[in-house]
Amino acid sequence: MSEVVEVNEKTVRCDGESLCEEKSSSSQGHPAVYLKINQDLRAECPYCGRIFIYKNLSSFFIATN
Ligand SMILES: [Zn+2]
Repeated sequence: MSEVVEVNEKTVRCDGESLCEEKSSSSQGHPAVYLKINQDLRAECPYCGRIFIYKNLSSFFIATN
């Protein structure tokens, strides 16, 4: 199961830390990596498989209407 995170920036940082409020005793982080949102408006962390979905569509696309 991949965790899905909504972001507002085209570059996201992931170090594997849990985004949940609950803090487990065992750290399952990984080296910090910076992921770029691709044309599918998402990025996937190669370490933890976390999915980042870009939500700020208004600034990503040029309005056509
Ligand atoms: Zn990660």
